[in-house]
Amino acid sequence: MTGGSRGIGRAIALALGAEGANVTVNYAHSAEAAEQVAETIRGYGRQALAFKADVRNLDEVKAMVARTKEAFGRVDILVNNAGILRDNYVTFMKDEEWTEVLDINLKGAYHGIKAVGREMIRQKSGRIINISSDAGLLGDLMRANYASAKAGLLGLTRTVAREFAPSGITVNAVCPGIVETDLIAGMAETRRAKQLASIPLGRFGRPEEVAQVVLFLALDESGLITGQTICVDGGLHT
Ligand code: NAP
Repeated sequence: MTGGSRGIGRAIALALGAEGANVTVNYAHSAEAAEQVAETIRGYGRQALAFKADVRNLDEVKAMVARTKEAFGRVDILVNNAGILRDNYVTFMKDEEWTEVLDINLKGAYHGIKAVGREMIRQKSGRIINISSDAGLLGDLMRANYASAKAGLLGLTRTVAREFAPSGITVNAVCPGIVETDLIAGMAETRRAKQLASIPLGRFGRPEEVAQVVLFLALDESGLITGQTICVDGGLHT
């Protein structure tokens, strides 16, 4: 579970733990928050470990997967959730803003898939769930970097779904609309009001509402769903 320390990732980690999964709670900076999530999951009677790994670094991601296998015996589910924003108008965007967002939001997921792929193919089972965004479907002001990464994630999802299907592994994407987390905490009031007005259900989402869809996709019973994109967005993308 990448980016499990805060926001949507935290809610997904807790939902998976509550459902009976052992969970590796990945983080990049928030060690204490990640440890708290792991502790809560242990309170559910499951195993959990907090693991620092920057998803931009394949070796760190591989080390996390190796540690997970050592601790839990196998890896059944990968949730690629780690993500950041670095907003700017495209004409003003700095190369670092473009690269950092693409590296974390898109290359990070590619790294996760590379790190678990062979093992899942060997065991002939697995669930991979990529957290994309409505921005990848609709575009979003000042987010050429982010929307490109999230759209790329949908292409990655569909391709890996096809590549891994012969091994019974499913690969799907979830596109949240706007969810109340740290990620959007800095959003200007005017933009907030405009965004809210464009959502048919008239409200932003809660992390737990995204987590429930991830949980559904992770179930054994969801084994016929692959290569799909499910929006959790109050009808924003309809
Ligand atoms: P958030 O509250 O800002 O949390 C981001 C998470 O990603 C944190 O756990 C963070 O870890 C982790 N992370 C950041 N950089 C990382 C790196 N290099 N390596 C490993 N982990 C890293 O964000 P959120 O709102 O929950 O978003 C989660 C996902 O949902 C993202 O992919 C985001 O694009 C997507 N999404 C969010 C919204 C929304 O409205 N919130 C809408 C659509 C899609 P640390 O705590 O250690 O920094």
